[in-house]
Amino acid sequence: TINLGAGPSSLPTAVLLEAAQGLLDFQGTGMGLTELSHRSSTFKAVVDSAEASLRALLDIPDDYAVLFTQGGGTEQFSASALNMLSAHASRRGPAATATPTPAKCDYIVTGSWTAKAVKEAKRLGVAANVAVDAREHNGGKFGVVPPVSAWKLSSAASAEDAPAMLYYCDNETVDGVEFPAPGFPIDELPADYAERVPLVADCSSNILSRPIDVRRHALIFFGAQKNVGPSGVTVVIVRRNLIAHDPDAPAVLAQGGPRIPTTLVYKNLADNASLYNTPPMFSIYVAGLVFADLLKHGGVAGATERAAAKSGLVYGAIADSQGLFVPTVTQAAARSRMNVTFRVVSAEGTPDDGLEARFVAACAQRGIVQVKGHRSVGGIRCSLYNAVTLEQTAVLVDVMRAFIADERS
Ligand code: PLP
Repeated sequence: TINLGAGPSSLPTAVLLEAAQGLLDFQGTGMGLTELSHRSSTFKAVVDSAEASLRALLDIPDDYAVLFTQGGGTEQFSASALNMLSAHASRRGPAATATPTPAKCDYIVTGSWTAKAVKEAKRLGVAANVAVDAREHNGGKFGVVPPVSAWKLSSAASAEDAPAMLYYCDNETVDGVEFPAPGFPIDELPADYAERVPLVADCSSNILSRPIDVRRHALIFFGAQKNVGPSGVTVVIVRRNLIAHDPDAPAVLAQGGPRIPTTLVYKNLADNASLYNTPPMFSIYVAGLVFADLLKHGGVAGATERAAAKSGLVYGAIADSQGLFVPTVTQAAARSRMNVTFRVVSAEGTPDDGLEARFVAACAQRGIVQVKGHRSVGGIRCSLYNAVTLEQTAVLVDVMRAFIADERS
C-alpha cells in the first residue's frame, strides 16, 4: 500500500524492522525498549543519540535546547505563547509587574493550523495580534503567503513594546500552503523587529524536508507523526536564553492569572533533559532511528532534493492535465512540496465531487490510499512526506496521467 495520508505517515522499512527488534529485545538487554526504566542509562543513551542526530541534521548550535515532549503540535499552540510571554516578562523585569497589560504576540495566519494557534492563544487570554490573515488577500480562502509589506506587525520600537513572539507555520498541512523557498522572509522584517522579536515556527509537516536556519529562530517545534516517526513525541528546539527564567514568574498572563502548567514549562523539560516525567519512550526511540536513517541518506540536503523531485512530478502532471486538476493554492510559489492539494474539475470548470470520488477509486486500484482532502476543505490532498519514495510517487503520477487521458480525450 502506498500511504499518501497527511499523517500519521509511513516509516522507512529499515526503521520499522529495527524498531520491531528493539521492542522485543533492546540491544541484548533481554527487555523490550518500552519495558526499560526511563531513568536507566540505556534509555538515556537513546534520548541522547536521538538528540545528537537531530543536532547534526539541522545544525543546531549548543545554545539551543532540544526537548522531547508530548501533547502534539496542538499543545505547543499554548506552550509557545506562554513560555515566550514568560520570557518577555522576565526580560522586562519589574516593568512587567507594574504594567497592567500583558505583552502581545504576533501571528502570521496562512492556513488552518495558524488560525487554530491564534484561537488557542485567545482562549488563554493572550493578546494575539493577527498581523496578516491570508484569507483577506485571496478572496476569503487560504492559498497565498501575503508579502511582508502587507503584514501589520506590532511596534518593536522598544524592548518593552515589542511583542513576545512572531509566530508562523512553515507548512500548512490542511491547505497545502508552504512558505516559498527559502522559507520565512526574515530579512524583510524591519530591523528593530527582527532584532527584538523572538521568531517561532510550527514545522510539524515539513521539518527535515528543507534547511531551516535555527539560529534565526527562537523556537521551532514539530509533532513527529509526519516526517519523523510515530505520533506521541513533539520536538521543541528553543534558544536557551529564552528559557532561563523563573517558571513561577508572575505576569505571564494578566496579573493574577494562572501559572504555566509544569509539564509545559520549557525550563523544567530542559533542566531534566526531557525526563521531567515519563516520556513517550517508543516514539522517541523510533524518531531517533528515523534521524539516523536520514543521516545515512544525505541528511536534509538529500531530503530536499527528493522532496523537489517528488512534488515536481506531481505538479507536472497537474500542469499537463488540461484543466482537469486545479491546484487549490493560487500562488504557485506557495504550493507545498509536502501536501499537494488540488480539485478535480469538470469540463465546465467546476470542482466535481463525483470526479474526485472516481480519482480516489483509481488511486485505490493501484494501492494508493488516503488521498481525500481534509474534511474542512474537500478536494484531493496527496502528502509526500520523507518516507514516500520517488517510485511510489511515480505510481501516483501514472494514475493521474491515465485519469487525464480517460477524462480529457
Ligand atoms: N501544526 C501542523 C502544521 C499540523 O499539521 C498539525 C497536525 O496535523 C498540528 C499542528 C497539530 O498537531 P497534533 O495533532 O500533533 O496536535
